[in-house]
Amino acid sequence: MTRVAIIRCEKNMDQCPLTTCFRCLREKKEGFSIYEDCILEGVFTCHCPGDVAVILSKILKAKGVEAIHFCTCTFAKNTDEGWVMKDGGFCENIDEIIEHVNRETGIPCVKGTAHLPKDYSLKTWG
Ligand code: SF4
Ligand code: SF4
Repeated sequence: MTRVAIIRCEKNMDQCPLTTCFRCLREKKEGFSIYEDCILEGVFTCHCPGDVAVILSKILKAKGVEAIHFCTCTFAKNTDEGWVMKDGGFCENIDEIIEHVNRETGIPCVKGTAHLPKDYSLKTWG
């Protein structure tokens, strides 16, 4: 059983209550399909410019979290054709932020949660 956490973007915190993120986690689908079994151990909200993500991740690590997923809406957009990578999502620097978190905490990180774009291969750190 892998203990996972989700970090979401403040730009979406008042629009989306992470419903599909949670559903995918429960059903081990999309970004969570890499686990045989997993359980949600926490959710944090990133704030611009993103430095806080390392602090939040250290807290998650101290609480026993084994992997951190960053929401798909940070790097993809919902369009008439579904979720696409083109034009990105809420965060221009999400790769650098994830890289920083992984380097500073050593926790495996995953870029993606729900509704992964068709042209996207799940990217992981650590
Ligand atoms: S990835 Fe989707 S379900 Fe998760 S917070 Fe973003 S918009 Fe909501
Ligand atoms: S740094 Fe990126 S992920 Fe963090 S709140 Fe800002 S836009 Fe969202």
